[in-house]
Amino acid sequence: MDKMTIENVELKGKRVFIRADFNVPLDENGNITDDGRIRSTLPTINYAIDEGAKVILASHLGRPKGKPNAKYSLAPIAKRLNRLLNNGVKFTKDCIGPEVQHTVQGMRPGDVLLLENLRFHAEEEKNDEGFAKALASLADVFVNDAFGTAHRAHASTYGITKHVKQSVAGFLMKKEVTYLQETVANPVRPFVAILGGAKVSGKIGVIENLKDKVDKVIVGGGMAFSFIKSRGEEVGNSLVEEEMIETAHRIRMSVRERGVKFYLPIDFVVAESMDPGAETKIVTSQEIPKGWVGLDIGPATTRLFTEAIQDAKTIIWNGPMGMFEMDAYSRGTFAIARAVADAYALTIVGGGDTDVAVHRAGVSDSISFISTGGGASLQLLEGKELPGLSALMDAKES
Ligand code: AMP
Repeated sequence: MDKMTIENVELKGKRVFIRADFNVPLDENGNITDDGRIRSTLPTINYAIDEGAKVILASHLGRPKGKPNAKYSLAPIAKRLNRLLNNGVKFTKDCIGPEVQHTVQGMRPGDVLLLENLRFHAEEEKNDEGFAKALASLADVFVNDAFGTAHRAHASTYGITKHVKQSVAGFLMKKEVTYLQETVANPVRPFVAILGGAKVSGKIGVIENLKDKVDKVIVGGGMAFSFIKSRGEEVGNSLVEEEMIETAHRIRMSVRERGVKFYLPIDFVVAESMDPGAETKIVTSQEIPKGWVGLDIGPATTRLFTEAIQDAKTIIWNGPMGMFEMDAYSRGTFAIARAVADAYALTIVGGGDTDVAVHRAGVSDSISFISTGGGASLQLLEGKELPGLSALMDAKES
């Protein structure tokens, strides 16, 4: 990675402000249902503690819309961190202000403080300079480990770097960037990209960027229908973005010109409607009945895609093959999850829905790397810069 990391700076006795992504799912009683995001930042936090830093942790949680809201308090995160770190984690009721200043002044090396939700202040998402300065006043060193928000130029991910002497990446940030950016730049071949999810428009940047780098592109999910329609075929009431049909056609042509293999589904599980109890059947891609909706790839497609994946040495997967949240349409996605997990390859899964899918399929342990960031991982795969990353010090500055 071409950015400085936490290992490149002196932390001893310093106030080290770590921007983490503790945006974990909570149930209706405020209990954390999956603490994966907290655990993934532990290497950075533990390293800072071991180096004798005064560790100040900050994050957002949910969408409190710029106002304090008990529902989005980081109090449950403080409790969980206490357990995970086996340490008396302090917690302040705000992320800036006199109480915070006072608490930070009283910190000793090895102490850990968690600040309340950054997004209780509207200034956070507006990248307000005064707010960024107030956060920066708490820090000698800024560490960004919040990969999941690195695609946003907010006060705590971007503005703060202008007012702190040293801004570096944490271990999670480094790992994410190494897997997503460097693997794409220097893949072991064959390199296969599997793309799914609802819409072509959401993934177009990724296809455009990867089409020059991959050996095969496999497209499933709702986005496949715009491609099938672009061949002049009918897709019933399946999800189609009319305005993307021409783009889909252009992509098919340009991928073929480059000698990249392009795979589309050859059969589907279709339903009479989106209702949970609706009648379903399996049909070839040429025979989707009028008025029916394609909601999963069919068994022949699963076999085709599985074979296409088998010889891969590098696989990137982003987006489910169908509406996998409903049992009736989850088979295709889970089968592809198993095929990816079984491949003798470096396997990288993009965040969000695909992360959920590999966990539900029970194969998450067999995936080389699962990204913690949905939007941020897409942006890296699109070959774009992440503001929260580009604001950090370049490695050559050390
Ligand atoms: P994305 O966020 O673009 O990766 O899209 C993920 C969503 O796409 C999931 O919630 C899936 O239910 C949905 N999806 C996948 N395949 C289909 C399909 N054939 N029709 C409608 N929605 C789909």
